[in-house]
Amino acid sequence: MKDAAAREKIAGLDKGSMRGDIASFAYAVLNRLGFDDWKVVWSRASPGLCIHKTKTILLPTKELMTQPLWYSFNYVLHEVAHIDTYGGHGSGHTPKFFTKYAELVDRYLGTAQWGLRKADIKH
Ligand SMILES: [Zn+2]
Repeated sequence: MKDAAAREKIAGLDKGSMRGDIASFAYAVLNRLGFDDWKVVWSRASPGLCIHKTKTILLPTKELMTQPLWYSFNYVLHEVAHIDTYGGHGSGHTPKFFTKYAELVDRYLGTAQWGLRKADIKH
């Protein structure tokens, strides 16, 4: 947790920039989920990747810099969902992956973004 700022610095990210905002979001999610030893790296390659061997999430700079922030946050959650749903083969887009992905989107981009709790919006 304490080295999150250091890792952002290493990645060459500035607070307040689009890349900085995306990386800050990614590290906040990673830290919250206990994946403190993972890092985020900007890449010229596309699409992004979740690399278990080096505990690295590669984000495609060119693609994400042309999209709204919510798209990039969603992209980050997609890659983070791969961390603990890794099957070791194929694309990893298994039912287990999608369950985790949906959970993360709900938590970080869904009701939470509006400051609402699920209990508050139940009928
Ligand atoms: Zn994927």
